[in-house]
Amino acid sequence: MKLSKALNRILCFTASVFLIMSCSDENQFSEVGNGDNTIIIGEATKSYPGVDQRLWPYFERFEKAGKERGYNTDLIEAEVTGSFEDIENGAAGSCSYNSNHTFHHIRVDNDTWNSLTTNFREFIIFHELGHCYLHREHDEEAHNNGICQSIMRSGLGQCRDNYHAGTRETYLDELFDDF
Ligand SMILES: [Zn+2]
Repeated sequence: MKLSKALNRILCFTASVFLIMSCSDENQFSEVGNGDNTIIIGEATKSYPGVDQRLWPYFERFEKAGKERGYNTDLIEAEVTGSFEDIENGAAGSCSYNSNHTFHHIRVDNDTWNSLTTNFREFIIFHELGHCYLHREHDEEAHNNGICQSIMRSGLGQCRDNYHAGTRETYLDELFDDF
């Protein structure tokens, strides 16, 4: 079993009564330079039912990123919902979904969100949408220089994050690559 798969098993659990999978993501970010290469988020131009308004710009940017890569990315049609909560176990966020992916809900930890730059805010929302919408699991693959190849890293592996305005397009190519 690959390390990433093992970590995923640890982080994810199934509540069998409701057949809901939940994947919590640790509040661990290790960043190399260029964190000051800030991603500008802007305002949302539409609303997302069942989604906290603070997440709308990120949802819209995710849809745009998918469409730019040829996918009809529609989070409203998919009924992805999202909320802010005080997550007890120190997680930054989580994605919960049922076995056939007709229900998917993203939770974001209030304190973590308030402490994050826009770079990492987009990172964590796109990571959770990677689980919830793209059905991706964790991937700890690293380049030779130790930098994570994917924003789907668990945060518990060895690789370091490097998501900023200059690397965004490359990371989003990787994110949507298997979709
Ligand atoms: Zn995750």
